[in-house]
Amino acid sequence: MAIPIAIFWHRRDLRSNDNAGLFHALSGEHPVLPLFIFDSDILDVLPSRRDARVHFIREALQQLDEGYAQHGSGLLVLHGKPLEIWRHLLDTYPVAAVYTNRDYEPYAAMRDTAVSRMLEDKGIPMHTFKDHVVFEYGEVLKEDGRPYTVFTPYSRKWKQRLDSTATPGPDGRPVFGSLTDFPSETLLHHLWQQRPPAMPSLADIGFEATDIAFPPKTISSSRIGSYDKTRNFPAMEGTSRLGVHFRFGTISIRQKARKAHALNETFLNELIWRDFYSQILAHFPQVATQAFKPAYDRIPWRDAPADLERWKKGATGYPLVDAGMRELESTGFMHNRVRMLTASFLTKHLLIDWRLGEAHFAEKLLDYDLASNCGGWQWAAGCGTDAAPYFRIFNPAEQLRKFDARMEYVHRWVPEYGTTQYPPPMVDHAFARQRCLQTFKAALES
Ligand code: FAD
Repeated sequence: MAIPIAIFWHRRDLRSNDNAGLFHALSGEHPVLPLFIFDSDILDVLPSRRDARVHFIREALQQLDEGYAQHGSGLLVLHGKPLEIWRHLLDTYPVAAVYTNRDYEPYAAMRDTAVSRMLEDKGIPMHTFKDHVVFEYGEVLKEDGRPYTVFTPYSRKWKQRLDSTATPGPDGRPVFGSLTDFPSETLLHHLWQQRPPAMPSLADIGFEATDIAFPPKTISSSRIGSYDKTRNFPAMEGTSRLGVHFRFGTISIRQKARKAHALNETFLNELIWRDFYSQILAHFPQVATQAFKPAYDRIPWRDAPADLERWKKGATGYPLVDAGMRELESTGFMHNRVRMLTASFLTKHLLIDWRLGEAHFAEKLLDYDLASNCGGWQWAAGCGTDAAPYFRIFNPAEQLRKFDARMEYVHRWVPEYGTTQYPPPMVDHAFARQRCLQTFKAALES
């Protein structure tokens, strides 16, 4: 009789250290086979075969497998529809239990329900854990048990919740129960002692490598320490660039939140924004496609494909907007300050539907995350949970003066700025502002 095994299913947690679900799997009674599925339902609809995220994942899987190989084991990587893969796994391996970390996106929740039902039919338990966020949906609620939809009170309660898990550490500083490690890396000898078949290459799953450089997963304490002073200036390396690592779980949110708590409250607040939008999407999954404030779905967005193209290409004639769009195209990254401006410009100056901008960012951002992207876009368009009121319209010239006064960022990405090659503004700021105010007001009051 084959010895029963447990399967640990990696998804948004492509690391072997401080991994909650992996830790629990390895602490159980069965040897653990780690698994990753290249989900063809997701991959098949990606618009480009040179997708930097797929490349990033493939590299992270390679590293995971190399780590597991040192313990005589390895990562099983399969490609296909998750339900069919699971059917095949249950026919092939003596699976006694399945472990995984929770994923809160609507598609993932549906997929996981289907898989857990299939396992349940066979009498196999599926154990799920919180790992992707510090506090998940349902953990930070108002007194009446309803979810928060405004960030500031949410963040206050989030911090209280964290403080309530604190005990004094050996050096007198608090140790937070909610941020303690799950030291999965110390239990890797409990992995199943078999090498799986070689993992598919990028070409095997129909993709090609990109030349986009992936940011490092480490960040100096001094960068975090000075975050509040540097984070608004896109020409500086003033933010962490950790977004892609949080997205795919190549770093632990608990470890980074501990660092943030000790070093810089502004940085901690950004991590709380991430939890905030995650719980918004889990509680209100409709925000993936609809305005959180339904009245905003009455706005008659302009159907203007040529304007949308100019925005995408970074040829609007507004240099800070164009610099951001070109940074995104070349690197898969755009600085937060410029994400806010470019999103505001599309939705307010051009009156183009936030969903079209959201889709473009979804295609290009290395750190693309449905919850944060919809949150950011709806914030910029004025229709989100915590959105700036619609009559607050960013002035691109003012933003440039404040945040790239020496035009270093603009010259880096728009070298022809200041020459005859550079186009004049595609729309006059004062005209666009008036048009936006009138259109939004009429739609919201109708
Ligand atoms: P840092 O400034 O170093 O912040 C550290 C981490 O905190 C980030 O990596 C991220 O995980 C989190 N964070 C920071 N700001 C926010 C925020 N406002 N909302 C949620 N989490 C935040 N973030 C994404 O992770 N994925 C997206 O798809 C995404 N789309 C956005 C779209 C728009 C229109 C806007 C305005 C913002 C969007 N953001 C998104 C939030 C933010 O811009 C990025 O998280 C940040 O720029 C990533 O750079 P960084 O890693 O250097 O972040």
